[in-house]
Parts: sequence; C-alpha cells; structure tokens
Amino acid sequence: MSDFSPAAGLSPWQRTAAGAGLLGADGAIAATIFAEMSALAARTGAINLGQGFPDEDGPAEVLEAARSAIADGVNQYPPGIGLPVLREAVARHQAHWYGIELDAASEVLVTAGATEALAASILAFVDAGDDVVTFEPYYDAYAALIARAGGVHRTVPLAWSAEASGAVWQPDLEALGRAVTDRTRMIIVNSPHNPTGAVLDDEVLVEIVRLAERHDALIVTDEVYEHLVFDGAHRPIATLPGARERTITISSGGKTFSTTGWKIGWLTAPAHLVAAVLAVKQFLTYVNGAPFQPAIAAGLDLPDAFFAEAAATLAGKREVLAAGLEAAGFAVARPQAGYFIVADASPLGFSDGAELCRRLPELAGVVGVPVTAFVHPERHDAYRSLVRFAFCKRMPVLEEASTRLAAL
Ligand code: PMP
Ligand code: GLN
Repeated sequence: MSDFSPAAGLSPWQRTAAGAGLLGADGAIAATIFAEMSALAARTGAINLGQGFPDEDGPAEVLEAARSAIADGVNQYPPGIGLPVLREAVARHQAHWYGIELDAASEVLVTAGATEALAASILAFVDAGDDVVTFEPYYDAYAALIARAGGVHRTVPLAWSAEASGAVWQPDLEALGRAVTDRTRMIIVNSPHNPTGAVLDDEVLVEIVRLAERHDALIVTDEVYEHLVFDGAHRPIATLPGARERTITISSGGKTFSTTGWKIGWLTAPAHLVAAVLAVKQFLTYVNGAPFQPAIAAGLDLPDAFFAEAAATLAGKREVLAAGLEAAGFAVARPQAGYFIVADASPLGFSDGAELCRRLPELAGVVGVPVTAFVHPERHDAYRSLVRFAFCKRMPVLEEASTRLAAL
C-alpha cells in the first residue's frame, strides 16, 4: 500500500491537527469555522453574521488605485520584501499614528495578509517543543500554526462577564505570569481582539513586555483591527519601553479598507527579525498582489478623517446589533473595537452555542459562529453558550437580522 493511498490514513498535518484538537465532529480535518458558516449561510439563504467580512466596498480612492495599477502594468512579481511604495506608506503610517520610526528598506515586510505574516513568523521562530503563549479565546490560525511548527500552545483565559463594563475579557495577570516561563519562545498578542472585541488594558500590555524581557521571549502582535477602535486610540505594544527590539507587529489592509479578499498584509520589526521571517516567507507565497500593494499604500495615506469615520460608522453598527441581540434575549458585552459581538445565548435557554449556530438559519435565518471555535476542546465548557456575531454589514442587513433574531 502506498503511503499516499486513502487507506494509509493521515498526512503529517492531519496527524498534527488531530493532536491539537482541530478535527471536525466526523473525525475529518474540519474546514475553518468561517468557511463552514459562510457555506451554511449560502446554502440556507440566512444572513451571514458569521465570517468577518464587510458587505460594502471600501474607499473609492483605494479601489481606483488598484485599477490604475493594473492598467499601468503593475502585474508581475513585486520584490520579495514588497513594493517600496507600500513599505514606505507603512513606515509613514506607523510614524504618523504611533510615533514609531522605521527604516522602510529593512524593517517592513509585505505579506499575503496578516495570515502569512503570522505563519512565517511562527515558522521562523518556533521550534519543536517551544512554548507559545496566547490568550484564549484565540484567532483559530494561531493554534493551527503553532501545532504545525511543533510548538506547545499555552493559553491564558480571557474571562467573560456580561455585567462588568470595563473589565470584560481581560486576563488575570497572575495567570499570565504563570503561563510565561523560560520555555516560552513567543507570546502572541491580539489587541483589538478577535473574537471578543476587547482592547487589552495598558497594565496587561506592560506585564506582557515585562515577562517577555524576563524570559527572553519574542512578542508577535496581531493588530489587524488597529483602526476599528471605538473609544480612545489604539496603542501598539511596540511603543512600550523595552518592547520594540523583541516585537513583530502585524497588520493588514483587509479590515481597515474593506478589502479582505486582496490579502495585503505587512509586518514591522527590527531588521534582523524581518530578515528571519522573510527567509520563510519567500518559500511560502514568495510575493502576492502586486497591483493591490500601491492601492493599500494609497489607503494608508488617506486623511485621518477617513479612519475616524470608518470607526464611527462601525460603532453605530455595533449599537444596532447589540440592541437587536439584547432585545432578542441574549446577554451582550459591548465590544470596544473590531467587527464582532460575543453574545451569551443561555438566557434564551440555549446552553450550546455550536448547536445553536447549526440551527440558527432555520430558527431565525441568521448565521453566527460559536466561540468554542476559538477555544481548545478541553476548555469548551467555559465558553459553551457564547456565539460571535459580525456587525461589519450594511445597516439594513443588521436591522433585518435583529428583527429575525427577535423571533427566538
Ligand atoms: N488576525 C485576526 C485577529 C483576524 O481576525 C484575521 C481575519 N480577519 C486575520 C488575522 C487574518 O487577516 P488577513 O485576512 O489579512 O490574512
Ligand atoms: N478573520 C475573519 C473572521 O474572524 C475570517 C477570516 C477567515 O475566514 N479565515 O471571521
């Protein structure tokens, strides 16, 4: 029997996924929860508040810049590190918004979305047996990538509380302190956070940096929702004293400019870290999205008012969906940022969010994502009744979804 015949069983990745608890209910490698729920919405005609993508185009200037780039022949491989026009725009953006001065030639790397930046960073630095610390719930790709790199995924819980207003979804600092040890190679930070919409408190960021310094760990920070903060300003962890020399900061254009399908991301870090990640990245995609790179550069140079308006519009949508969910009987914690609201279905008598999500198209014509998709199976119990709903949709869609959910 060949090693590759169906009967031979699992590929190395499938074995890894099985070990990391990434198998579906039928024992096969599950499609990502986002793909699964978007397919469910397409099949049933339900309103898709599952996968986080906007249902409207972003700024006209950005779309037009991509069309022009195609017309102008920007259609061949860009340099591996990214087109200078985008690297320079990222450097200007970090200086303008956060006071972070970067050398665009060596401290900025363009990637195929934030996903590739994460993948290449993890594959570059995590060896078999290394600990990688994340908060939990966590964006699903972290667990899959850590597992494939052979790392040991250690998590610090973010606690749910619908009543507490400011303190929701913040980690316990002592639990964080216990999770980070000399075995920790990397701490992955995600603030603003998916799925909860939390912004980590400054004292949490300070503690992460202190622990990373003490245990000589790398900080990888996923800041794709940096411009979708509803109150106050985003504070990159790289701006904290001691952080910059050990931090890889990741973002992408998908959320900020409503271009999730373009997959233009980037990371910024000290030059030697960029070089290490580039060494991996060049054999993943090598490069991507040549004409979209100058278009995202044009987006990053848009006036401040664009960014403020995008966040304000989204804050209004958050209110509509939060009110709709509350009227339907869910317990809701208002997110501080991002695309998503986590709602507790237990007041409605649903104790299993995954089961509710499978039935929601039929019950209410709406699709959401169970929060357990962002949690290791061993700890599902603490998050079982929670569902994530996306509010990056047109106002009438959110209003219709709210009306439908009221039928629950
Ligand atoms: N990180 C987080 C926290 C996300 O929510 C997402 C998805 N939207 C990504 C990374 C992936 O971003 P990209 O589409 O740029 O790869
Ligand atoms: N980040 C998006 C979400 O959380 C989905 C991205 C994906 O489908 N991989 O919904």
